[in-house]
Amino acid sequence: MQKYDLLIVGAGISGLSSAYHIKSENPDLNICVLDKGSTYAQGNTAKSAAAFRDVFTSETNYKLASSSISFYKDVQRKGFNLGMHFNGYLFLMDKDNLNSPAVRKLLNKVKSKIISREEISELGIRTNPDPDAASIMNLRNIEGGLVGENCGIMEPDLLASFYVTKLENMGVEFRFNTNVERLSIAPRNKLNFPGEPFIWQDKVIESVETSKGDVFADQFLLATDVWTNDLLRPLGIDAFTQPKKVQVFQVQSEEISKMMTRKVTGEEDLFPFTILPSPTIDLRPDPKSKMFWVSYVEGIGRGFSLEENPTADEDYYSNNLYTVLREYVPAFSNSRIRSSWAGFYSMNNMDGTYVFERHMNLSVVNGSSGSGIMKADAAGMVAAALFSGKQSTRLYGGLEINVADLGLSKRKVDQETLII
Ligand SMILES: Cc1cc2nc3c(=O)[nH]c(=O)nc-3n(C[C@H](O)[C@H](O)[C@H](O)COP(=O)(O)OP(=O)(O)OC[C@H]3O[C@@H](n4cnc5c(N)ncnc54)[C@H](O)[C@@H]3O)c2cc1C
Repeated sequence: MQKYDLLIVGAGISGLSSAYHIKSENPDLNICVLDKGSTYAQGNTAKSAAAFRDVFTSETNYKLASSSISFYKDVQRKGFNLGMHFNGYLFLMDKDNLNSPAVRKLLNKVKSKIISREEISELGIRTNPDPDAASIMNLRNIEGGLVGENCGIMEPDLLASFYVTKLENMGVEFRFNTNVERLSIAPRNKLNFPGEPFIWQDKVIESVETSKGDVFADQFLLATDVWTNDLLRPLGIDAFTQPKKVQVFQVQSEEISKMMTRKVTGEEDLFPFTILPSPTIDLRPDPKSKMFWVSYVEGIGRGFSLEENPTADEDYYSNNLYTVLREYVPAFSNSRIRSSWAGFYSMNNMDGTYVFERHMNLSVVNGSSGSGIMKADAAGMVAAALFSGKQSTRLYGGLEINVADLGLSKRKVDQETLII
C-alpha cells in the first residue's frame, strides 16, 4: 500500500501554489496532488478573468494580493511568461465614491491616480447616461475614475503551468481523473474493535476513498474550492463558504476592437480592466481576440447553488448586462456575443477573503471569493505555514501575516471599504 506524506486534493491554483510552497520548504516530503479533472487547473481557475489588483483598503487583502503580484512580476521578468499586462484597473465612480475617504486612503497607499470625466469620455465611455434610462435603471453619472496602476490581467493557465513545471521538477506526483468521494476518519491509535472510532478516541483522516480506490497519507490538504462543503459536511465540519455562480460573455463589435488600444496607464496600448459605477459590471479586455469579457457578480437575487457543468444564459446578458452597457459604452450597441461560460466563486460572506483552517491532520484552503488568482501565491505560503504549524509567515516581498488571522476561531480580517 502506497502512503504519501501529504495528499493535496485539488489541482487548481490554490492547490498548486500550496504544493509549491510546502514542497519548497520540505523537500523530503513525498507529496501527491490529486484531481478529478483530466489535468490541472480545469475547475474555476480555468473560468477566471484573472484580473489582478493591489487596490484594496483592507490590509489583509492588500498583503495577499500585492505580495502575489510582486512574485508573478518577478517570475515573468525572469522569463516565464504569465501573460501579465499592466493595463490598470479603472473604477468608474459617482461623485460620492470619488470623494470618499476610501479613495483618498488608496491614493496614498497604492500606485494609483484619478482620471477626469474628459479622459473617461476619450476612452469611449459616456459619463452621463440618458436621463430616462438612468432613472429606470438606477444608473449613476460618472464623476471620475480611480486607476490602479500596479494592476491588470494575466493568464491563469500560464500561472498554473508555472507551478506545475516547478512541482514536476521537485518530484511531486500528480494523479488526475480521480474523484475523491469521501474522507475516511479513523482512530489515531487503532484498537481494532468494531464501531471505531469511538467518541473518546483521537481521530485522524486516514485515507480518501476515490473513484480509483483508497489513497492513504499522513497529512491531507483540501484545496477543492466550491466542492469543499461536499467533502467536509459528512464529517460534521462547516466550510463557512457558499458557491456563487458567475457568468462571462465574450462580446465583439468593430467599435469594441477600436476601443481596445485606448489606455490609461502602462506601456502597452491596452484598455484597462474597467468597472462600471452601478451595477458594477466589469469589462475585461482580451488583447488576443480584441473582444471584451463582460461579467457581473450578482448579490441578492442569485442564490447559492452548485452545478457540475455550469453554462451562461445569453438572455441574462441581453436583458440585464447589455441594457446597462449600451448606455455607458456606445460601442456595445451593435455588439454580438461570441462565446460565454460560467463558473463559481467560493464565497466567504464574512469578509470576502480566503479561509485557512486545520482540523486534525487536515488543512483546508477555501473561500477565495473571486480573487483567488491575484492572491494565489500568498495563499500557498499561508497554507504552507498552516501545514507546518507556524504562527505567521513572511510573504514574497517581506510583508508578514498571521495564520490565525485567516482562520475561523480567531479570525482578524479588516473589512474592505472599497466594495465593487
Ligand atoms: C467567472 C470567474 C471570474 C473570475 N475572475 C477572477 C479575477 O479576475 N481575478 C481573480 O483573482 N480571481 C478571479 N476568479 C476567482 C478565481 O478564479 C478563483 O478564486 C480560483 O481559481 C480558485 O482556485 P482554486 O484552486 O481554489 O479552485 P479551482 O480552480 O476550482 O480548483 C479546485 C480543484 O479541486 C478539484 N476537486 C474538487 N472536488 C474534488 C474531488 N472531490 N475530488 C478530486 N478533485 C476535486 C476540482 O476539479 C478543481 O480542479 C474568477 C472566478 C470565476 C468563476
